[in-house]
Amino acid sequence: MAVKHKTIPIFVPHWGCPCDCLFCDQKKITGLREEMTPERAALIIEEGISRKQPGDVLEIGFFGGSFTGIPAPKQEALLSLAHKAKLAGKVDGIRLSTRPDYINETVLKRLLSFGVTTVELGAQSMDDDVLAFNRRGHSAEQTKRAAQAIRESGIGLGLQMMIGLPGDSFEKAMMTAEEFAKLSPDCVRIYPTLVIRDTGLDELYKNGQYTPLSVEEAVWQCSRLYRFYTERNIEVIRMGLLDMKTEDLVAGPFHPAFGELVLSEVCYNSICMKMASITSDKVSVRVHPRFVSVLCGQKRRNIIRLQEEFGLHKIDIIQDESVPDMEFILNGI
Ligand code: SF4
Repeated sequence: MAVKHKTIPIFVPHWGCPCDCLFCDQKKITGLREEMTPERAALIIEEGISRKQPGDVLEIGFFGGSFTGIPAPKQEALLSLAHKAKLAGKVDGIRLSTRPDYINETVLKRLLSFGVTTVELGAQSMDDDVLAFNRRGHSAEQTKRAAQAIRESGIGLGLQMMIGLPGDSFEKAMMTAEEFAKLSPDCVRIYPTLVIRDTGLDELYKNGQYTPLSVEEAVWQCSRLYRFYTERNIEVIRMGLLDMKTEDLVAGPFHPAFGELVLSEVCYNSICMKMASITSDKVSVRVHPRFVSVLCGQKRRNIIRLQEEFGLHKIDIIQDESVPDMEFILNGI
């Protein structure tokens, strides 16, 4: 039976955050207008558990703020709910996101005592100028120290990065990825910067001082980063936000299927590389049925590009369940 990783998300928007980062408004990003309480969290957990299917690996995740910056009694009230569910065998893990400067020995001891299995650090960039300009209030060095401390504690490590921040560039994003890889994370998330209404970034954008990435540029950058991480066996667990209310989004590369666009670009580049060994102008591509749409791209964009780029007259897509996810077998016919 195929294992499915699922998370019961509990959003604590802006809780524990010491400042407003230039680009952030967690209430708008998470779409949560009501405050989280232990009572609401208990209901969300119960409902999430009731939907568990055989074969699911289920985690409870606290996202949307700086969890370890929340006053300890409030943290413990939420963590104890998750811990209880984990001890009862109803969930398999507990994850949370926080800031790099909010990790220390006391914090990690608390998290371990409540059975936390993964901590995700909102690192965003490993370039100190980018961090300062975006009012992050921490340095790249603090991210390194926090990541090492998490690793040493035995808790899983996740790292989150953003692309397209003011002052950022593709070169700086790749440098961030290289620095991340040295910290041996179990997983990463990549978020393209969006301009959210009434944030500092919105002001810069309206004054003409910030230009967001286009969807195409963001997809291109993410496809390079995705390849970089996967070649090093670092799992990319998310690219782009899942949902965003139109009224809160001012500008930026939001696309509801952003992750799929990136995977399509990755597939396109892989096929292009393999085309070097093909002499025929007719090819067949074997792919798992689940990945046909990723391989072909939205509106068959990849197929059209391949026909144009290599003068192909025929591309047969053959569905084959034996081909692993994100792989394909290309042959001339
Ligand atoms: S980016 Fe993170 S630390 Fe900054 S305000 Fe948003 S949730 Fe808080």
